[in-house]
Amino acid sequence: MIKILLLAIGVWLIYILLKNYRRSVDKDEEATPPSPIEEDMVRCAQCGVHLPKSESILSCGESYCSDEHRRQHQD
Ligand SMILES: [Zn+2]
Repeated sequence: MIKILLLAIGVWLIYILLKNYRRSVDKDEEATPPSPIEEDMVRCAQCGVHLPKSESILSCGESYCSDEHRRQHQD
């Protein structure tokens, strides 16, 4: 009787280990989804064109696509 009990526990342990292993493998696959490169987009206060923040000109809390539009907007 004890032998059967030990066997049952052994099978149960293997089952749990396999389940946890599978879950960790699934997790690894989910951890690396294809993510697009995203950058903050800003809008030119003069012409309304959208451009990446790194390429915009910031002045007085407004973003501009070019120095020319910055001057036009502030005149
Ligand atoms: Zn502009």
